[in-house]
Amino acid sequence: MTLNTMLSYQVTEWGTPLQQVLGRKPEPAANEVLVRVRACGVCHSDVHIREGSYDMGGGKSIELGRIGIHLPLTLGHEIVGTVAAVGEGAKAEVGQPVVVYPWIGCGQCRHCVAGEELDCETPRSLGTRRAGGYADYVLVPHERYVLPYDGIDPLVAASAACSGLTAYAALRKLPAATADDTVVLLGAGGLGLAALGLIRHLTLARVVVVDANPAKLELARAQADAALDIRDADSQARLRELAGGGALAVIDFVGLPETFEWGLAALRKGGALIVVGLFGGGTALSIPLLPMRNLRVQGSYVGSLDEFRELLELLRRQPVATVPIEQRPMAEINDIFEDIRQGRVAGRVMAIAG
Ligand SMILES: [Zn+2]
Ligand SMILES: [Zn+2]
Repeated sequence: MTLNTMLSYQVTEWGTPLQQVLGRKPEPAANEVLVRVRACGVCHSDVHIREGSYDMGGGKSIELGRIGIHLPLTLGHEIVGTVAAVGEGAKAEVGQPVVVYPWIGCGQCRHCVAGEELDCETPRSLGTRRAGGYADYVLVPHERYVLPYDGIDPLVAASAACSGLTAYAALRKLPAATADDTVVLLGAGGLGLAALGLIRHLTLARVVVVDANPAKLELARAQADAALDIRDADSQARLRELAGGGALAVIDFVGLPETFEWGLAALRKGGALIVVGLFGGGTALSIPLLPMRNLRVQGSYVGSLDEFRELLELLRRQPVATVPIEQRPMAEINDIFEDIRQGRVAGRVMAIAG
């Protein structure tokens, strides 16, 4: 690698392994910040994105190429590193350790101006729309998206940008609760466990974890008030017993028809189902059920820049149980993807830049 070049790992054709590409190192202009990548977390969604489509249920799917995601694309959105160079207008200090907020909007539309970038219709998120963190360097459009993470382990800060933030933003949508209420975390994978580590800081409610994997349930049981196997025929009855009726809220970190239906059935009147998981599929919903039981069904996608700041502050202040983190060289990125696809990864893998 010479001074003006960098390595990156790109999707060049949907559904095929990432290609190592030697390209030009970007030069930041205006408010842009160039970050030297130290590590980038590998997310299940990277594996989905590489495939090039999402199952929307009912035999429908979305081709990513048709919603403005174009190739070649450097994936990777849980980025931690140091400021390497700044544009002439950017207020960031070269050499400063930073974590990158990747969920960036166009910056121009009314949503972006109001600070609701997640609702931007033309996002330029790093690692899903623009070049991301599986590279030596990543170009960040504005200094406001690079944040200091002093007092936090660098790899924990990196994972906060997606799995941590997704869990946190979903928890922030929980209705106000007392110790008599019950919240269900459906799915004890990376996201569910991240939520479990944070939830006691955000609600007084009783916490029940539901999954279909005995090993994951065992891991979750230590921190939850109860853990239930969704495959048990009496899992709904047991939840009702634990909750003294139904749950105030269910957060579905899986997003399969089975989990969505289980979650909706578990709610008490006035309850909320918050859907986070993107596994895909569709379901038939009884429409009168929503008004008759006064239910709320809501989606939650990653989290806002403000929520990211709040989460970093929380991680700085409080000891938070985090998911196990495994470090592997970025050059092994395709093997890491395969391990995730095969369900062989418990917790988070951090790809360490060379
Ligand atoms: Zn992610
Ligand atoms: Zn916008």
